[in-house]
Amino acid sequence: CGIVGYVGHRPALDVVLGGLRRMEYRGYDSAGVAVLDGAGRLTVERKAGQLANLEAELDAVGRDGFAGTAGMGHTRWATHGAPVDRNSHPHRDATERVAVVHNGIIENFAALRAELEAAGVELSSDTDTETAAHLIARAYAEGDTAGDLPASVRAVCRRLEGAFTLVVTHADRPDLIVAARRSSPLVVGVGAGETFVASDVAAFIEHTREAVELGQDQLVVITRDGYTVTDFAGEPAQGRPFTVDWDL
Ligand code: GLU
Repeated sequence: CGIVGYVGHRPALDVVLGGLRRMEYRGYDSAGVAVLDGAGRLTVERKAGQLANLEAELDAVGRDGFAGTAGMGHTRWATHGAPVDRNSHPHRDATERVAVVHNGIIENFAALRAELEAAGVELSSDTDTETAAHLIARAYAEGDTAGDLPASVRAVCRRLEGAFTLVVTHADRPDLIVAARRSSPLVVGVGAGETFVASDVAAFIEHTREAVELGQDQLVVITRDGYTVTDFAGEPAQGRPFTVDWDL
């Protein structure tokens, strides 16, 4: 299982698929990608099985629809829901404006799911992860976090129990990606005019060796120009910068 996110100047699909390849050694049963373009289109493809299955699907639907320079990818090791296409990540809300990838387990997902169902939300997978996509979309749509993606993700992270690396995109914000962690790894890669997040430096080491390891319960916003770290309350925080000095 592995996660990679990218905001920069290159075609995100290539960067993300390359990152997923580099993390294949970690093992997985499904894979998926999301790409955002500047026109506010969020395009998702996901597939059970090997990365080769996902690549074949991308070739079948045509890669032209994945032209943006921001995106993310996921390899799944199923814990909640069988390893089938509809349980593969990214997961989206009903409007398909928000996409979420997740490694780990959201322990209180049953209560969150019941709350969403009571509010009339229809869930389309058996995963714990999908609850986060709907909750983030709702936090972004209304209330005191409305229109603020990082604040919406922080508000939802405060409600989640368990272990997670989460990466979140919103079609309104192709300029940034939000990522958060609790008891699960998350590293930022700082390049020139491009920034990465990943569960493992292997995902971006061919592009940059300048990395920042996030601490427990931290959230990072990446743009092509850099990154900003806060805790889940929104207070400024700092990761641990390091240089990757080994070769793959
Ligand atoms: N719990 C999530 C799922 O089953 C994420 C699993 C993972 O770490 O890949 O979909």
